[in-house]
Amino acid sequence: MSKTPRIPIPLEVRKYVFQRDKYQCQSCGKTSAETELNIDHIIPLASGGSNDISNLQTLCCNCNQRKKHHFDPRFRRRFSN
Ligand SMILES: [Zn+2]
Repeated sequence: MSKTPRIPIPLEVRKYVFQRDKYQCQSCGKTSAETELNIDHIIPLASGGSNDISNLQTLCCNCNQRKKHHFDPRFRRRFSN
């Protein structure tokens, strides 16, 4: 099984995800005014996730860092919607 290559997320896609998530971190709810927001792969590419919009969410840099150490089950639920 080949892994999804880690490609840069196009600007339009980043913008779409930020707008869909209302420029809020999907874990702690902070906005772009309060913190730096990143695009996160809900299912990491290393675990078979895709670069599809349904696998992308807005996270602040703090939550993004934390997620690397702890997989939040909420992300899985959201992904299955
Ligand atoms: Zn956050």
